[in-house]
Amino acid sequence: MYWRRTVKGARARQRAREAGEAFLSDGDLSKRVITQAKQTPERDWLGEVSAVVLQQALADLNVAYRNFFTSISGKRQGRKVAPPRFRSRKDNRQAIRFTANARFKMLDNGRLRLPKIGDLAVRWSRPLPAAPTSVTVIRDAAGRYFASFVVVAADDPLPAVDAEVGIDLGLTHFAVLSNGKKVAAPKFLRRAARKLRRLQQDLSRKQRGSNNRKKAVVKVARAHARVADSRRDWQHQLSTRIIRDNQAVYVEDLCVVGLGRTRLAKSVHDAGWAQFVQMLEYKAARRGRTFAKTNRFLPTSQTCSTCGRIDGSKPLSVRSWTCPCGAVHDRDVNAARNILAAGRAESLNACGAQVRPAPLPAPRREAGIRPDAVRSTRSVEGIFAL
Ligand SMILES: [Zn+2]
Repeated sequence: MYWRRTVKGARARQRAREAGEAFLSDGDLSKRVITQAKQTPERDWLGEVSAVVLQQALADLNVAYRNFFTSISGKRQGRKVAPPRFRSRKDNRQAIRFTANARFKMLDNGRLRLPKIGDLAVRWSRPLPAAPTSVTVIRDAAGRYFASFVVVAADDPLPAVDAEVGIDLGLTHFAVLSNGKKVAAPKFLRRAARKLRRLQQDLSRKQRGSNNRKKAVVKVARAHARVADSRRDWQHQLSTRIIRDNQAVYVEDLCVVGLGRTRLAKSVHDAGWAQFVQMLEYKAARRGRTFAKTNRFLPTSQTCSTCGRIDGSKPLSVRSWTCPCGAVHDRDVNAARNILAAGRAESLNACGAQVRPAPLPAPRREAGIRPDAVRSTRSVEGIFAL
């Protein structure tokens, strides 16, 4: 039900834009698509839903529009933001958000009380560190329900350690560390690819609109979800370990989006670097560690980490080489050492002062209805199965 508000809101804004009208204010829009609509017989079902949920859907739409406008006017840096799209109740992923105003409540018996929905049984994956400011209920493509809480968490710094590390994210290994450790890439997607391929073939043979097709869609979504879950777990363990063992962590600022367009795409996405780097970043911020991405144009695999000589480009097949200075290098460990050196140098150049990182957006998948709308203060990611 809730998503239709966003549809209505998006449509009202789009009409206003096409008619050359001024941007509808948030208040006007809210009046038009919530307050007035509730009074019409065909929209009276809106009264069955908590008003906060409707307002949240509109608030997300407003943020999406603002991002779009600042993007086309050039005020917003980075990639261009597309105008908000209509949502459909046929979308695979659905989400609603309740803020504190909605008076959602954690009951003593472990259930979650949501206004106009009721008391839900929750399988808590861990205790909440503080009172949550909002809860998002998500139904994913595999038909599973999750409750994701936004909790403003105090930083929880770890005792200082001496070690610092550079990380080379590669194709032969998921990660190679400057201390010589190599972490094998878990090719979850490929291992599961055969099963997925079979499920997808099953799906393609089903008639459009049939019930069997719907069932097959869910099966494919479940298989995908399982792979994504185990990959995320594994990345959480690895990133937690790296942050715990090192005072500073440097990675190359890889243009993963650009790489994703080449034929290496499958490996790149299998590896899921972007998600992993994001984990390192927010864990470092919470745990009082230094994290930085080094300049992506450094020829890290061509430079000798011992003498600094740039020895020319080397095809991917060259796994080790000897510099004229006598140093023998493993290609990836040498690159990781160069990343560490570059990260240290760049940190020192920043006036020698450690700048406190700005509030980090919540991890994408884990809060908010529209990913672009998520700009919370640093939040503890937490997904709790319902
Ligand atoms: Zn050398």
